[in-house]
Amino acid sequence: MIASPPDPLAEPTDRLGYADDLLTVGERAKLAQLRRLLDEQATPHLADWWEQAECPVHLRAELAALRLEDDEVLLRQDGSLSPYYVGFKHLELQRVDASIGTIYGGQTGMFRTVLRGGGSPEQIAALDPGIPSFETTGCFALTEPEHGSDVAGGMATLATPDGDGWRLSGHKRWIGNAPISQLAIVPARNADTGRVNAFLVPLDAPGVTMSDVDGKIALRMVRNSDIRFDDVPLAADARLPGIGSFSDLSAILAQLRYVIGWNAAGLQIGAYESALRYALAREQFGRPIAGFQLVQEKLTRMLGNAEATLALAVRLTTLKDRGALDDATAALAKTWSADRLRETVALGREIAGAEGIRVHRNLARFFADAEAVYTFEGTHEMNSLIVGRAVTGLSAFTR
Ligand SMILES: Cc1cc2nc3c(=O)[nH]c(=O)nc-3n(C[C@H](O)[C@H](O)[C@H](O)COP(=O)(O)OP(=O)(O)OC[C@H]3O[C@@H](n4cnc5c(N)ncnc54)[C@H](O)[C@@H]3O)c2cc1C
Repeated sequence: MIASPPDPLAEPTDRLGYADDLLTVGERAKLAQLRRLLDEQATPHLADWWEQAECPVHLRAELAALRLEDDEVLLRQDGSLSPYYVGFKHLELQRVDASIGTIYGGQTGMFRTVLRGGGSPEQIAALDPGIPSFETTGCFALTEPEHGSDVAGGMATLATPDGDGWRLSGHKRWIGNAPISQLAIVPARNADTGRVNAFLVPLDAPGVTMSDVDGKIALRMVRNSDIRFDDVPLAADARLPGIGSFSDLSAILAQLRYVIGWNAAGLQIGAYESALRYALAREQFGRPIAGFQLVQEKLTRMLGNAEATLALAVRLTTLKDRGALDDATAALAKTWSADRLRETVALGREIAGAEGIRVHRNLARFFADAEAVYTFEGTHEMNSLIVGRAVTGLSAFTR
């Protein structure tokens, strides 16, 4: 009897063997649970949710029940998670779907990091414990309709001191998860000092109105909002005391910049695995297209891009863990990873021919979602300008 060849998709793609090297047995078991949950509860519905732009908000409870953030088996001696585990957790989510990764990570990554970095001990004690369970929900609202790339200098949202508290007026746009959040952390310019501060704003406060950004071709399951703040009253303790300037905010956001490589690797691995699955099943000229040289060359480029992006993410994580990750290196990694991501998802779409433009084959979803990742957390141009300034000593931001 001839033994059948091993299933190339039996295990998640990790040719360089990072998971075995960097994760504990407990962490690997937790990630296997995450994979199982996503395979069973999300994968069969992704195309429909994406097409209907339906936000699978119910998945938050199921993900929370896995205790991905605070299961004792995951905690190191100081109570923290290993950053490699955090990276692989993001990778696993993105490998399945970028929207689901954002619905989960916008809260447990972005909102939580800014709260922990800028909040007072009282604010953190009140809100942080509820974040992993999604009892407390939050988003981060930086971008404005008139200020995207130049928001650092151009922020127009104003916080005006008013008695013991504040009044907030302005407009934010593209804010992910806002309609499914209780709170937004809103950076705003202090009307007295001109400096950027940040505020915890209940999204049901009087004067807050929201509408969805519609017609998106990427991250269709994520609800991105246009939020208006019309003279919103805020208590004194709404201000995050650790954020007294845009530089303070940047320093906090910098802690998250290593994650983007894991996300870009996860999306590429998802696209690669979908393309390989399709190529093995689709027959032309009497044999699977996976057996043709030109298709194998595309699969090779996809795999190489994905693995190289993962290798870069691992290195960035090591630097971050040592406190040695500088802005320019993070910017270089973001722009390079996002370029590889765009190339990889386009190759995957191509491998599936006409089916590659149908969302039901996954490849179109990865193809479209890559555009959001390419743009947020610093566009290609902004990151190139950060790298350019570091390597030449010349700032070209306004030329
Ligand atoms: C799906 C999605 C989710 C998002 N989620 C959030 C969120 O949760 N919270 C949040 O605050 N924001 C969010 N954003 C906003 C995101 O951070 C911004 O889109 C991003 O910063 C770019 O801003 P912009 O879209 O206004 O582009 P613009 O700043 O208008 O830029 C347009 C183009 O001009 C280029 N450009 C601008 N200035 C220069 C220059 N000096 N030199 C060369 N080129 C230049 C840019 O690189 C870009 O290609 C999200 C965006 C997307 C797409």
